[in-house]
Amino acid sequence: MQFQVLGYYGGYPTATGGTSGYLLRSGTTNVLLDAGSGVLSALEKVMDPLQLDAVVLSHYHHDHTADVGVLQYLWQLKPGAKKEPQLPIYGNTQNPIEFATLTWPGATVGRPYTDNSPLTIGSLTFTFQRTIHPVPAFAMRITDADSGHVLAFTADTRYYPELADFVKNADVLITDTNFLNGHQGPAWHMTAGQSGELAKNAKVGRLLLSHLPQTESLAELKKQAEETAGTIKVALASDSEGWELV
Ligand SMILES: [Zn+2]
Ligand SMILES: [Zn+2]
Repeated sequence: MQFQVLGYYGGYPTATGGTSGYLLRSGTTNVLLDAGSGVLSALEKVMDPLQLDAVVLSHYHHDHTADVGVLQYLWQLKPGAKKEPQLPIYGNTQNPIEFATLTWPGATVGRPYTDNSPLTIGSLTFTFQRTIHPVPAFAMRITDADSGHVLAFTADTRYYPELADFVKNADVLITDTNFLNGHQGPAWHMTAGQSGELAKNAKVGRLLLSHLPQTESLAELKKQAEETAGTIKVALASDSEGWELV
């Protein structure tokens, strides 16, 4: 499996980067994981979006869904061969109003996922776990049937110890690391130290810090994660260039 970071900021984009979005590829399977602000433009630099098999959304906060609407218009308007006549967009049904917006007649179709049954798209199989966040959000464990490799993604969540079991032994773990250690105020995301601890407890292969803050030192964020991650290699999603192997 390969993946490419298409956006890595939490909350809002900057002049240099968009919000949550990742392109997953295995063989001929292309899946967009989250569609935050700026993600469609970043995707167009990598491949024709019409060759997507599906989109999977972790939750319905705008920094994860802002580009869904324009992707629907692209599917409706852009000339060219489509891999799917109607693009499937997978989301949870616990927010029924938002789920209903995933269907744009003739272009895209909303499809449900739940945390009690796996979802297979091409050679990739997704399992889900509800996280702790102000709206229903789902961490994902993605297994590639061809290679057996596992990519895990925390989605948005505060830290909770049981998450380590869900992401256990993943080859790559992408975490919501929106805060430096010692963050004051509502903790709906993880700190750098918590991301490192999660990676260490789960014995993952590599840790990629994402959902990054715009106004903090990313070098410090990385250093704090490394302090708790033990021997696990830590990288910033903002430093990711091109395809990465899982
Ligand atoms: Zn977010
Ligand atoms: Zn969120």
